[in-house]
Amino acid sequence: MAFVTRFAPSPTGYLHRGHAFSALTAFDASRAAGGRFVLRIEDIDATRCRPEYEAAILEDLAWLGVSWEQPVRRQSDHLADYHATIETLRERGLVYRCFRTRKELDIGRAPHDVQAPFTGAPLPPDEESARLARGDAFAWRLSLEAARDALDGFEALTFTEEGSGPGGETGSILARPETAGDIVLARKDVGVAYHLAVVLDDALQEITHVIRGEDLFEAAHIQRLLQALLNLPTPIYRHHRLLLGPDGRRYAKRDRAQTLRELRAAGVTPQALRAEMGLT
Ligand code: GLU
Repeated sequence: MAFVTRFAPSPTGYLHRGHAFSALTAFDASRAAGGRFVLRIEDIDATRCRPEYEAAILEDLAWLGVSWEQPVRRQSDHLADYHATIETLRERGLVYRCFRTRKELDIGRAPHDVQAPFTGAPLPPDEESARLARGDAFAWRLSLEAARDALDGFEALTFTEEGSGPGGETGSILARPETAGDIVLARKDVGVAYHLAVVLDDALQEITHVIRGEDLFEAAHIQRLLQALLNLPTPIYRHHRLLLGPDGRRYAKRDRAQTLRELRAAGVTPQALRAEMGLT
């Protein structure tokens, strides 16, 4: 059976140990399976991504001993394709314009409730036209209600988890996209959202195994729904544990986790890093 996996970093900063663990886990799995490994640069958010980080990613991965197929797919080169998909979803009545600002979405919610999923509906046509004429910013949201109507098997969508989610979820998993509410598929400043670009690219690159950190386990539930709506194949998922730092917390860019470049400058070798992370 074909085996194709990928590493899909966003160039919003330098790679740190957590990325190295993820990239090596996927790369090693592709080698063990005699399969293929592709690299994808997820740079759709032009407000946060920088070319110098992309260059650093290639350099750091090569230093780690990871090799990937050419050409590298860069999502910002394909924005028109993602927009065309949003357009087909719009024609099918699966997305609607949401004009609410973040502030408006938070109004009326208890402070502990800010994560509550949002579900809404299109504005009445005359109100929508007026807001569009005014040039108000809006996001395209996927309507769970419309998706439920469009898909016969909405309640029975599953995916295979060969690794495990944060709660130990493994095996055949029932997708629960509704827990995320009506997700945003595109915004004014970020023309396409992560979930849509990921499912389209995973299908286009014929990814058979999505190997990534368990922090993205919830994303699989939403991505499964998008695959069903867009008639795309569902890869097998292998979410892996997150590497924890000496303080018992996961490595993250926001904590200024030590970058691979800093480790390299300090004389750490890729072999030593592998050993430290429990990879042989
Ligand atoms: N680009 C995402 C990130 O850097 C990963 C996407 C994925 O593996 O599905 O967190």
